[in-house]
Amino acid sequence: MFSYRHAFHAGNHADVFKHLVLVAMLRHLLAKDTPLWVIDTHAGAGLYRLDGDYAGTSGEAQDGIVKLAGAVGAHDTLDGQALAPALADYLDLVRGFNRPGDWRIYPGSPFIVQKLLRTEVRDKLKLHELHPSDSKALAGNVAQLNAGRQVSVAREDGFEALKALLPPPSRRALVLVDPSYEIKSDYAKVPAALRDSLQRFATGAYAAWYPVIPRPEAHELPRKLRTLAGQVRKPWLHATFSIGQKPVAAGEPADTRQGLTASGMFVVNPPHTLKPALEAALPQLLQVLGRGRGKGHSIEAGGA
Ligand code: SAM
Repeated sequence: MFSYRHAFHAGNHADVFKHLVLVAMLRHLLAKDTPLWVIDTHAGAGLYRLDGDYAGTSGEAQDGIVKLAGAVGAHDTLDGQALAPALADYLDLVRGFNRPGDWRIYPGSPFIVQKLLRTEVRDKLKLHELHPSDSKALAGNVAQLNAGRQVSVAREDGFEALKALLPPPSRRALVLVDPSYEIKSDYAKVPAALRDSLQRFATGAYAAWYPVIPRPEAHELPRKLRTLAGQVRKPWLHATFSIGQKPVAAGEPADTRQGLTASGMFVVNPPHTLKPALEAALPQLLQVLGRGRGKGHSIEAGGA
């Protein structure tokens, strides 16, 4: 079974980047009156304690959400400038899970999405998580929402589940594909799942996260997704965000345990508002979270 537990990484720079993109996409998709299905193929536990054993040990949120919240303070400004709307929107949403100035909880994608869904319009959230402990934790966390039929949790393979869920009855869906890539085959499963899903439901919005690491499969993944988008003639957006290497103090040996320093999001059928939103937000996010050699961001878009 998997050893990956998202609790170690909750609220890190990759989560901040991924959830910023997710919130920006949802804001646009939820502006229309017809019901939206959000399918989270790899949901994790849903809610995480930043002061608990996992996040406390890894300290990754300190270089992510905690650093961002500290830099912008209560007034959402950065060096006297207003925060970009998408960044302010994301931060405000996460802040809503915490007491003022006391960052103890980080919401994973299920709770970020659920917070935005509309009951009156009958939006739905379909969650999949395979890890026995995380799927149990997810079910327990979701039960506390009393969200009824709006949210469903399945201990199933999220890649496989897409086949039965698409197309959704309302013909509107956002699919988040966020594997841990602990198993090498995930790198092949992501493009295969998107190819199959686009055949079943060509107009859905699909967002896939991946780690930017020196591994051929990770390097190839965005290229494969871009080729796929071209073949099915769909618009796409590819963004990356890198905090760079930890700086080394004079006289100290370089820290070889850098951990993950960069990640990417590949979106097929992005809302037209996503590119300008990220163009405003990512430079500010980099200003706060960027820390050394290799830091940067990129946004490319293309297609029909
Ligand atoms: N999407 C979550 C968020 O943003 O808060 C984080 C998800 S985490 C990166 C990936 C999760 O996928 C892990 O909890 C792992 O146990 C789970 N997982 C791995 N393979 C899976 C599969 N085939 N189907 C469903 N869940 C899977």
